[in-house]
Amino acid sequence: MAKKLNGTVIVTYRCNARCTMCNRYKAPSKPEEELSVETVRKLPPMYFTNITGGEPFIREDLPELVRELYKKSDRIVISTNGFFTDRIVALCKEFPQIGIRISIEGLEQTNNEIRGLEDGFNRGYNTLKILRQMGMKDVGFGMTVQDKNAPDLLPLYRLSDEMGMEFATASLHNSFYFVEAKNIIHDRPMVAQHFEDLCNALLRSKSPKKWFRAYFNHGLINYIYGQKRLLPCDMSFDTFFIDPYGDVMPCNGTKDKEVMGNLNEQSWEELWNSREAEEVRKKVRCCDRQCWMIGSVSPAMNKYIWIPGFWVVWHKLKSFFTKKPYSMYQNKIVRDYRDGKVTKEMLDRCSTCDLCAQVSDGLSEKSREQLKDRSGEEIVDADIAAQMK
Ligand code: SF4
Ligand code: SF4
Repeated sequence: MAKKLNGTVIVTYRCNARCTMCNRYKAPSKPEEELSVETVRKLPPMYFTNITGGEPFIREDLPELVRELYKKSDRIVISTNGFFTDRIVALCKEFPQIGIRISIEGLEQTNNEIRGLEDGFNRGYNTLKILRQMGMKDVGFGMTVQDKNAPDLLPLYRLSDEMGMEFATASLHNSFYFVEAKNIIHDRPMVAQHFEDLCNALLRSKSPKKWFRAYFNHGLINYIYGQKRLLPCDMSFDTFFIDPYGDVMPCNGTKDKEVMGNLNEQSWEELWNSREAEEVRKKVRCCDRQCWMIGSVSPAMNKYIWIPGFWVVWHKLKSFFTKKPYSMYQNKIVRDYRDGKVTKEMLDRCSTCDLCAQVSDGLSEKSREQLKDRSGEEIVDADIAAQMK
C-alpha cells in the first residue's frame, strides 16, 4: 500500500481579513481557477490534511471538497479566521470529527488591530464557543506571535485552556504565500520572554501533547533569533502543499513558488515522481530559510521523535525541582545577544526580512489580470457581498 502523506490544501487565495503581517488579501485568486473536486480526487492518501487559504470558508463549495478529502484522509483540520460562523457551524454538523483552528491574534483590541476584521475577536471567539457547545472536540486557537501581540500570548493560552481548547502558535514568516518580505521581530528578548513563560506553563500541565508544544515554542525562540532549525526540514519528501491552481509545492515558506508539478494537468504519480519534483527536493535539501511553522515542524517532530522526546523528558524532570524548568537563556544565541556578543543588526541579517525584495504573490496571469482595474480588497468585498445576497 502507498505510504500516506501529510498534505496542505490551499483552497483559495481569497481572503476577507486585512492582517498586518500578510498581504494575501491584496492578491486573490479567481474563483473559477480554484481547485475543483476533480483535482482534489487525484490527491494521494493522507494521514493528515490541513485545509487553508486565504480564508477557506469564502468558498461556498467547501463542503464538497471536504467530502472528497475525507475519502482519502485520516484527519482533517481547517485553519480559518472564524468570520463565516454559519458556514463553519454547518460544516461541523456534517463532519463533527473535523478539526477547526481559528486564528486569534491576541486579546480583543490587539486582535482587531492586527487582523483588520470588524469585531473579528468576538466573531472568532463566539464561533469557537458555539463549536464547543456542539460537542466538537478538535477545536482551538491559532496565534501568530509578533511584537505587538506577544504580551497577550499567555492570557490567550489561559483562555484556551479554560475552554479546553488547543492552542497553536506561530511567528512571523516571509514568503510568496504571505505576499510579504518585510516581516521581522524587533524586540527579540521581549518576545522570547513571553514564549519562555508559555513554555513553562505548558511544561507544568499534565498533558504530554502540551509538553511537546513547549518544545515547538522553544524552537520559535530559536527561529526568531535567526538560527538553524532544531530539526531537519523534509518538506516535499512525504509532505506537500497544493495551491488553488493545482500547483504542488514543498511548503509555503519559500520566497517564490517552487512548483513540483500541476495536478490539474498531471496524475499524482506522474507529478510526484517527475524530474521537476526531484529538482525541488534538491532545493529543499539546501534551503536556508530555517522556517519553524507547524506544517513543516510537526512531521519532523514525528520523524525525529527522540530529539523533542529527550528535551521533554529533561524538562519534565527539571519541573519536579523548579517552577521554571525552561529558560530562554538555554539558547546560546539568546545569551550572546544579552551579553553583547551579537548585535541586533547581525540578527536582523539572519532573518528572511528583505526590505528591498521584489515580493512574489504566486498568482496566475488571469488572477493578476483582474488587479489591473480593481484592488484585491474591492474584488473580494464585491465577491462576498454577492454571496450574501
Ligand atoms: S494571515 Fe490569513 S486571514 Fe490574515 S490576510 Fe493572510 S490569509 Fe487572510
Ligand atoms: S526551510 Fe523547509 S519549510 Fe522553510 S522554505 Fe525551506 S523547504 Fe520550505
